[in-house]
Amino acid sequence: MNNFISNWLRPNIKAINAYHVPASENMVKLDAMESPFPLSDKLIEQYSACLANAQLNRYPNPNAIELQQTLRALMDIPADCGVLLGNGSDELIQLLALACDTDDTILSLDPSFVMYEMIAKFTCLNYQGVDLNDDFEIDLSAMLLAIETHQPKLIFIAYPNNPTGNTFDRTAIEKIITSTHALVVLDEAYYAYANDSFLNDIKKYSNLVLLRTVSKIGFAGLRLGLLIGAKDTVEQLDKLRLPYNINTLTQVSANFLLQEKDEINKNAQIILSERTKLSATLNAINTLEVYPSQANFILFKAPNANELFTTLKQKGILIKNLSNAPKLTNCLRVTVGSSEQNKKFIDIVEVFYG
Ligand SMILES: *Cc1c(COP(=O)(O)O)cnc(C)c1O
Repeated sequence: MNNFISNWLRPNIKAINAYHVPASENMVKLDAMESPFPLSDKLIEQYSACLANAQLNRYPNPNAIELQQTLRALMDIPADCGVLLGNGSDELIQLLALACDTDDTILSLDPSFVMYEMIAKFTCLNYQGVDLNDDFEIDLSAMLLAIETHQPKLIFIAYPNNPTGNTFDRTAIEKIITSTHALVVLDEAYYAYANDSFLNDIKKYSNLVLLRTVSKIGFAGLRLGLLIGAKDTVEQLDKLRLPYNINTLTQVSANFLLQEKDEINKNAQIILSERTKLSATLNAINTLEVYPSQANFILFKAPNANELFTTLKQKGILIKNLSNAPKLTNCLRVTVGSSEQNKKFIDIVEVFYG
């Protein structure tokens, strides 16, 4: 680092390891929970016409009202809830952190989604991660104690959790919500693959909001996430949103592509049945411990995880190696892909342990 930047930069930024996205050209990409399905042929022509009509000389629609309606219809969002759009749900995590005061604390679980802690650092907030149990369930008494001790302003709970793939005990979450003055943020990035949601609980709890995203249902490239909460909460948080944060190309694309509710649901169903197959096949390999999943990925513990990861990579398959994280020794995470992709992956794993 040159002298100028070294003197100038905030110490805790210097100390951060940049969020690393591995090279993936020509790889079978099973590392980032993307959908394997490209745009269907029948949509491409109409979609191109939409894009051609986009007025790129103008600023985007500031509140993206039409897009809000599209998302409400796609996700069956209750009419009495407010919706706030972000450039990915990551931007909404940042926006929630920006609403906090100096010295406030963000509380989450460990292991969970890494952006909660990173964004706490970016915004100079305190961060506390409460350890999950050995079966990746919430340790409720530890959580309630941490709430009492640290008096957090925000509590992030990924439901289902990333990278473990499970949902948590619903009554534990309800207890957390009613035991705190913090805003509880349930991150439902994987809602399409889960058998439970808190969407219909928002009106019960004034301190509950949900995050969702279109990234895990086929549209990671759009960068579009949403916060769903009480209308007055959303109205206040909206003051922190940068004007025009949802660009015109995203608005035009999403308004067209997200009308295809049947197609989106059909693709999610394919992933669900592929998940069942993949999970069973991995389970049949005796040396592996496969964790139950409510998401479009599977976490598993494998002897020689580093070696398996490297072997897969050499053969053109990219998954996520978590084996160096303290509570995830020898754990790997694989995104559920298309039938052909999953087969390529599983063939290599079977030979490796064969
Ligand atoms: C993938 C993921 C996100 C990120 O969503 P974007 O909308 O792509 O920013 C948020 N939360 C969790 C738990 C995730 O796994």
